[in-house]
Amino acid sequence: MSSASLIPENDPTTLFTSAGMQPMIPYLLGEKHPAGTRICDSQKCFRTQDIEDVGDNRHTTFFEMLGNWSLGDYFKKEQITWMYEFLTKEVGLDPKNLYVTCFRGKEEIGIPKDEESAKLWQDKFASDGIDAQIVDFPERDGLQGGRIFYYDEKKNWWSRAGVPEKMPIGEPGGPDTEMFWDFGANLGIHEASEWKNEPCHVNCDCGRFVEIGNNVFMAYKRTDKGFEFLQNKNVDFGGGLERMVAASNGNRDIFSADIFTRAIAKIEGISGQKYDADKNDKVTYAFRVVLDHVRAATFLIADGAVPSNKDQGYFTRRLIRRAVRYARDLGVQQNFCADVADSYISVYGEAYPDLVNKKEKILGELTTEEEKFRKTLEQGMKVFETGTANMKAGEIIPAVQSFDLYQSYGFPLEITIEFAKEKGLQVDTAGFESEMKKHQELSRSGAEVKFKGGLADTSEISVKYHTATHLLHAALRAVLGDHVEQKGSNITAERMRFDFTHPAKMTDEEKKRVEDLVNYAIQKDYPVTFAEMTVAEAKNLGAIGLFEEKYGTLVKVYSVGDPAQSPHAEIDSPTFSKEICGGPHVEHTGTLGKFKIAKEEASSAGIRRIKAILE
Ligand SMILES: [Zn+2]
Ligand SMILES: [Zn+2]
Repeated sequence: MSSASLIPENDPTTLFTSAGMQPMIPYLLGEKHPAGTRICDSQKCFRTQDIEDVGDNRHTTFFEMLGNWSLGDYFKKEQITWMYEFLTKEVGLDPKNLYVTCFRGKEEIGIPKDEESAKLWQDKFASDGIDAQIVDFPERDGLQGGRIFYYDEKKNWWSRAGVPEKMPIGEPGGPDTEMFWDFGANLGIHEASEWKNEPCHVNCDCGRFVEIGNNVFMAYKRTDKGFEFLQNKNVDFGGGLERMVAASNGNRDIFSADIFTRAIAKIEGISGQKYDADKNDKVTYAFRVVLDHVRAATFLIADGAVPSNKDQGYFTRRLIRRAVRYARDLGVQQNFCADVADSYISVYGEAYPDLVNKKEKILGELTTEEEKFRKTLEQGMKVFETGTANMKAGEIIPAVQSFDLYQSYGFPLEITIEFAKEKGLQVDTAGFESEMKKHQELSRSGAEVKFKGGLADTSEISVKYHTATHLLHAALRAVLGDHVEQKGSNITAERMRFDFTHPAKMTDEEKKRVEDLVNYAIQKDYPVTFAEMTVAEAKNLGAIGLFEEKYGTLVKVYSVGDPAQSPHAEIDSPTFSKEICGGPHVEHTGTLGKFKIAKEEASSAGIRRIKAILE
């Protein structure tokens, strides 16, 4: 299937898609996937927590994660056989540099050592003439000449809650087996690292080994009696595409992969500087920040996160501003973001046609943001210099000062922190944030706390709001006409937002009729059920809905009311709505509460936007 958006739909608990399995969670928990039981993809991912780590040879905020899933279909034997073939034959990695880890087991909770996986790997290595030794306690005793290593649940167990003991009742999880690539003992990476006095092993932090993928065997469920086998065992594989490329190139520098070649050439042309991965100086660092941030901003804007002061847009803004600030280290004072983005679009355009379709919008947003920031950057730097002129190393810049740089000159806090660091000064971040709160801006911290919510369950309230979009959609079509089409929705715990095509402002009477119809459907307590069918069948039955062919031909059609009847959003109708949708939904509309339109406004040309609440 194609990649889901970087911005999760209808999931208020997380700002970005940060792993390939994130859009798959409902299916791993048992919901039926319209495309069947064997799925694979390459998922766009964005990780905010890595923004400040970008600059070395391996951190990026944006990356692609390869994934494959078995939803109650194949299991360990097939997965390990195919994974070995994929890595050694398709990607062409030399199995001599490949290492794997398996779960050591935990007697206290009755989960055995994953000897089955270890043995399967051993057989695969043997087929290439490699005698793969299985060894235990590598974290204590080092490599011991082994190739297959057992680790504990901190390394080789997966659940949304972490280690088995932390899993709530009902939560699925299981052991995993990870693959590592060895860049070679001869590089002396471990010996040059701060871990040099401890034994090196594949999970050592020195960087000699890099994890290229993880196969999770989701086999267990925690119950009040302990751990039991799930009825349907799943496989969940995720592997970093760029890390595999780095392994396949035998080059630890991710930015040396050819996906970056055109962008590097562009920046070299603009700056007159050369990218040299081996130098690891200020110039190399700046190249990497610009390369990563412009690429991430390009994909984020394509998925709708235009630069702004809140939520996802705040991160796009931060990325662009940091890119502009680091480009100064390359001597670049003129606009460059659109040019670099353009070179990425030419490289990624075939795999992600959306970038090509939205090229004008992407380049326009980048340039606008860049110009806006450039205007204040020089002024802000003068203010910073003046404000800190008499400060000594180790002193703290007062919060009001860094907040003023943010408020008046658009400096994200970390830009102030970076400038401060160069002068040996510190920044009062807690003070900055309370200043921020005082000004009632949606702050960086606010956005990140939200992000850290992580992969929590789709909350009850967002399921209610999502179900209400079906009722609203049907009611709008009944009141305004069949030209009404959904153009997007966004749900938080506080409200829903619904965009739709309609040429004019809604009158008060129209709004009242829509509200009344939705509330009628809620009072009627219709059952909500689904059936799977082809798109043609769905349309025949009068189903509406956003549908992209990305999930293949079978779709889920949710009926509000009698699934056997065609839908009419009117009083006393046996069926209120039928809509193609992936879920999740409430089972009866009566649980939704009272529906109220809070606002109706223009979104863009020909598109209206409703904000509504459930009381
Ligand atoms: Zn090491
Ligand atoms: Zn739905």
